[in-house]
Amino acid sequence: MTTLHNLGFPRIGARRELKQAVEAYWAGTLQQSELEHVGRSLRERHWTLQAEAGLDAVPVGDFAWYDQILEFSCLLGVVPPRFQQADDQPVSLDTLFRMARGRAPSGEPAAACEMTKWFDTNYHYIVPELEGDQQFRIARETLFDQVDEARALNLDAKPVIPGPLTYLYLSKGESFDGAADSAKLTLLENLIPVYRTILQRFADQGVTWVQIDEPILCLDLPDAWQRAYLRVYDQLAGAASVKLLLATYFEGLRDNLFTALQLPVAGLHLDRVRGNDPLDQVLPRLGDKVLSLGVINGRNIWRADLDALLDTLTPLKAQLGERLWLAPSCSLLHSPVDLDQEDRLDDELKSWLSFAKQKLDELAVLGGALDGGDGVQPALQAQRQAVAARGQSRRIHDPAVGERMAASGQVSRDRLSPFAERIGKQQAALKLPAYPTTTIGSFPQTKEIRAARRDWKAGKLDDSGYTELMKQEITRAVRYQEQVDLDVLVHGEAERNDMVEYFGELLEGFAFTRFGWVQSYGSRCVKPPVIFGDVSRPKAMTVDWTRFAQSLTDKPVKGMLTGPVTILQWSFVRDDQPRDTTCRQIALALRDEVQDLENAGIGVIQIDEPAFREGLPLRRDDWQAYLDWAVDCFRLATVGVADETQIHTHMCYSEFNDIIEAIAAMDADVITIETSRSNMELLEAFENFQYPNDIGPGVYDIHSPNEPKVDWMVALMEKAAQRLPKERLWVNPDCGLKTRKWEETEGALANMVEAAKALRKSA
Ligand code: GLN
Ligand code: ZN
Repeated sequence: MTTLHNLGFPRIGARRELKQAVEAYWAGTLQQSELEHVGRSLRERHWTLQAEAGLDAVPVGDFAWYDQILEFSCLLGVVPPRFQQADDQPVSLDTLFRMARGRAPSGEPAAACEMTKWFDTNYHYIVPELEGDQQFRIARETLFDQVDEARALNLDAKPVIPGPLTYLYLSKGESFDGAADSAKLTLLENLIPVYRTILQRFADQGVTWVQIDEPILCLDLPDAWQRAYLRVYDQLAGAASVKLLLATYFEGLRDNLFTALQLPVAGLHLDRVRGNDPLDQVLPRLGDKVLSLGVINGRNIWRADLDALLDTLTPLKAQLGERLWLAPSCSLLHSPVDLDQEDRLDDELKSWLSFAKQKLDELAVLGGALDGGDGVQPALQAQRQAVAARGQSRRIHDPAVGERMAASGQVSRDRLSPFAERIGKQQAALKLPAYPTTTIGSFPQTKEIRAARRDWKAGKLDDSGYTELMKQEITRAVRYQEQVDLDVLVHGEAERNDMVEYFGELLEGFAFTRFGWVQSYGSRCVKPPVIFGDVSRPKAMTVDWTRFAQSLTDKPVKGMLTGPVTILQWSFVRDDQPRDTTCRQIALALRDEVQDLENAGIGVIQIDEPAFREGLPLRRDDWQAYLDWAVDCFRLATVGVADETQIHTHMCYSEFNDIIEAIAAMDADVITIETSRSNMELLEAFENFQYPNDIGPGVYDIHSPNEPKVDWMVALMEKAAQRLPKERLWVNPDCGLKTRKWEETEGALANMVEAAKALRKSA
């Protein structure tokens, strides 16, 4: 029988039970013992579900109160001194929460640990903070308790832990210079003995297999790290009687493949969805290792083509026999939980989809079919039909989009004139002062706005009533911006719940789930739209609101769109055509919107691309191909306008060093970015590149409720002017204001405008 296993299951719960419980605990309305109870019952439910699906072993250690890396830091006693953890005491739940969020029901508040993106997913982990001579010890028992818990349910528990090299690579510390600093490797001497103890404890508990995650093997690794693998795993191999399954995911291993194959572990897991390492090179070097193939996509929501998988797996099965294992490509943490709950998706669309629970069923059917079982034939047949029906569905293929795409190669990607010529015409048309001021788009999303949207969606408020309320909000935003004397105004985005969902709902080819939540960080989840078919725009999406806002004022109002790459990046994307094809379809739809805005007399149009950088592939070798099509899509969407029309873009981060060429190639007239917290130092990339177009380095952090001071913003802009020509500079906040209150916004923007005026005087 083919062994089936899973790298991890979403812990949040089908109805986000974990989120609710954890937030209630933080708010003081749930006791710790009640919270523990919720955790235990979720684990039991998820393990049982996996066992019932037919898995041979269940993952233990994928459960986390906030984040699995934070759990492991607590297990290792890696608690920064500001959390006042005594060296000989266990790390408590509240300490864990204080590390995550800076505070907890008990204990003194302290600055929270940093959070960052988990590889190229939309999940965020808590970055471990290491001292230069960090000591490790077993400081929290929960993982071992959970192993006992699973075993008490008569399940084969497979503990899942981050591997020591991945753990160190993902850490930071004042003594270390970035992720790849090889100085971190000196800590292995302290760390390995604790890993050995952990493995011994698992062995004592009766564990057979331990999954040790080393996803950094899918990155471009410096030699020192690659070499460390052999040494480290030699030391772990003999530690205990447990067998190690080395798990890699999110990419292929490429130049790290032979390293992984040489390690003295009992099994190796490869991601066969994102990775494509040549198996004819793997098999001869496998020795007596188990080969676990991640064949069901853990990061997307489409049902798999099991026939195609069977074609490739059957010969492998003949060669490997019992040593071939099957699993999802990566942890199902990145999938929504259960499709069965979706009672508002039509049956056709639903039959194309698969969430975490369904993925395990697919795995079981695949395994059964590979073993020649007759019992799975009806399920295999049903899957075959669903996959075939999807391929032929008229809902996916829109001939008009197809024709337009075929002709899109001929569509211009260049503005009519170069920036140096355009900008003069834009300034004449817009009559802007030096250091023009603007905002990033959204104004505070008040309770009233949310209530109006909710009532309208629920049918309690009719269209005209809703439009009226939104117009009132737009009027309020415009009036305020005039009063405070901003130069380029916005309508405030009151009508938008979310910058991707809003457009997805107005475009063809998108669907929305009710419960398709995926954990983003801590208790926060996102519910990405599903792009299932060709994308087109039935009618203008933003023109009425923007035109209304413009009718209220003589100052220019900036039209506000979400860019093609960001829409793609924050959705579940169809897997039956290349991502760049889907992105170009979105770009063409946005191009029409840009055109319509221009025709409606809107002279400034912003296309937000906050997710532009996060689309970068894990491997440098793949960057250029991505940047080429991402830039192409942005240009496709934006260049169809007259020279006088000013195109803005916004990206709410500030690391541009390695992508500055692509940013310049986007050729937006104005880019607004986040810089206030870095003291403008991050403008260096733009300075060194001699970035030619206009740029608005954010002068205050919108995430903070504190009112920014005029002098502080003037000083920041003066720093910016040392790096870039002052004629090219705009004055704006770091990001949109939707999470702020009106009281905070009013003071902050008044100060910002005052700062711009002071700069003009002294210029
Ligand atoms: N225009 C959007 C806003 O202001 C941009 C948000 C973002 O960059 N994430 O809210
Ligand atoms: Zn932003």
